[in-house]
Amino acid sequence: MTKVSATLETPILIVGAGPVGLALAADLGGRGVPCLVVEQAEGPPDHPRASVLNARSMEFMRRFGVADAIRDAGAPDDFPHTALYCTTLNGFEIARIERPHHGGRGSSAGSPERAQRCNQIWSDPILRALAASFDSVEIRYRCRFETAIERADHVLATVHDLAKDEHLTIAARYLVDCSGGHSPIRRALDIGMNGSDYLGYFLSIFVSAPELWTHHKMGKAALINFVEPDGLWRNLISLNGRDLYRFGVRGKAYYDAPDKVDADRLFNEVVGKPVPHEIISVRRWAARNVVAERYRAGRIFLAGDAAHLNHPAAGLGLNTGLGDAIDLGWKLAAVHQGWASSTLLDSYEIERRPVGRRNVGHADTSHANDREQKPGPAVGDDTPEGARVRQRLTDAILPSQTRKVITDGLALGYRYDPSPIVWDDGTPPPEDTVSDYHPTARPGSRAPHVFIAPGRSTIDLFGKGFVLMRLGTAPLDISGIERAFAQRAMPLAVETIDHPEVTALYERALVLVRPDGHVAWRADAPPADPLALADRVRGAYV
Ligand SMILES: Cc1cc2nc3c(=O)[nH]c(=O)nc-3n(C[C@H](O)[C@H](O)[C@H](O)COP(=O)(O)OP(=O)(O)OC[C@H]3O[C@@H](n4cnc5c(N)ncnc54)[C@H](O)[C@@H]3O)c2cc1C
Repeated sequence: MTKVSATLETPILIVGAGPVGLALAADLGGRGVPCLVVEQAEGPPDHPRASVLNARSMEFMRRFGVADAIRDAGAPDDFPHTALYCTTLNGFEIARIERPHHGGRGSSAGSPERAQRCNQIWSDPILRALAASFDSVEIRYRCRFETAIERADHVLATVHDLAKDEHLTIAARYLVDCSGGHSPIRRALDIGMNGSDYLGYFLSIFVSAPELWTHHKMGKAALINFVEPDGLWRNLISLNGRDLYRFGVRGKAYYDAPDKVDADRLFNEVVGKPVPHEIISVRRWAARNVVAERYRAGRIFLAGDAAHLNHPAAGLGLNTGLGDAIDLGWKLAAVHQGWASSTLLDSYEIERRPVGRRNVGHADTSHANDREQKPGPAVGDDTPEGARVRQRLTDAILPSQTRKVITDGLALGYRYDPSPIVWDDGTPPPEDTVSDYHPTARPGSRAPHVFIAPGRSTIDLFGKGFVLMRLGTAPLDISGIERAFAQRAMPLAVETIDHPEVTALYERALVLVRPDGHVAWRADAPPADPLALADRVRGAYV
């Protein structure tokens, strides 16, 4: 019979040690906030999932001090991030999109970091080691969350320790559901998911094919989409730039009977001839493009795949989830440390759900483009008709797929607008575009990147408490702001920067940046009521 052990207490219980739960634990750990992570599995997954950390996620990794570890673990610096479209690897090329500002160690115009290819089989263990390195973080594997009941000032959760076969009761002030797409918590709370009707069925095949590029003439590419007579339904994603790939196959029949699938045959088909390879593992999964109706129910928050699900075509699921963790981390810390009340936590859903809807919407549209392609039987033929069909596809695929695979605007240009904890300055927002990022320091935006010293970005100033940037040479008295933040026990650092590019880009003499690196307020003079500013940005706006 299963034993029942004593009650554990923690300020914050995180259910799920996927990347989002681990990033949240690392963020809290870095702020010295205790938390307990429970995970039903034995450790990080050994089958590949998401492969790309976009530039914003890499900025988070930079702040965590693990950006180099991610780069070292992923694809080699010189591996091209090319997205290739072809009939087979030994057939006809249809389109090619180069992504020169992805990968490698340099910066790009908008960020000190570039998007990196590092699959979860390597990035999740890095996040786990990071989270576990903090004394205030405890991670318990093989512990399955079962129930949660909300009380007046805490949540009471039951967890099954599978190794010891005993039940634990955990009292937490807040619970964060990072348990992924099948979230038992979201279901128990009866929180629906809204979005498109799309439901896609897939097999994910983990395959090793050493030096595959020596068996064809298409060259190295990170993402290879096969354009076949009945559409784009197979792709090959390079994982380590050497031998490992994630081979994706769409189709309900495959999903329903994975054991009957001849993965070797499917693989040789897309290569266009038999080549040496080994199938390592096969998993099935279903994709939807939906967002939870709510991200909060009392003391319980939803983050990551528990809150939003999307087809991975545009690589947004994991990256959107990391953004959730970063938004929620400092807010939970503020409440735990006592300089904000729980009203600050209301802003989590207000800020993050629109980002979830925007990114899921983009994934839905861009994948719909894939589904609409119906090339017909001539696509692989070496005939004038085949050439005409391929040219038509090239013309259609290039614009739609560029929007799918270059998403720097989505990655860096998201903003919290409107937000009750941001002080709108009335300036018009820049255009919100998918591929191009338009830097801005308008309140609500991610504070933009400028190098202020060799290798040191404005981004590197942010992450702990609030930062008041004093830009240019105008003598401004900021003592009122400092007194107000001290009165509310809010962490504040002042950075005086006389750098023309920063002054021009940030557009104001004073810019207040939140612990998550988003601009909270900006002006050319100190506010008339500094306490009102401090109260607004700590969520005491009611
Ligand atoms: C098979 C598969 C293939 C994928 N492939 C891609 C891809 O190619 N590209 C892409 O961009 N995205 C892909 N994704 C999605 C991507 O992996 C997710 O967006 C990302 O992992 C989200 O992170 P998360 O932490 O929110 O959730 P998850 O990574 O799902 O982590 C949730 C964790 O919660 C744990 N958990 C669940 N229930 C309980 C419970 N009751 N008690 C304790 N722990 C629990 C789970 O074991 C899991 O470790 C894939 C997902 C799957 C499932």
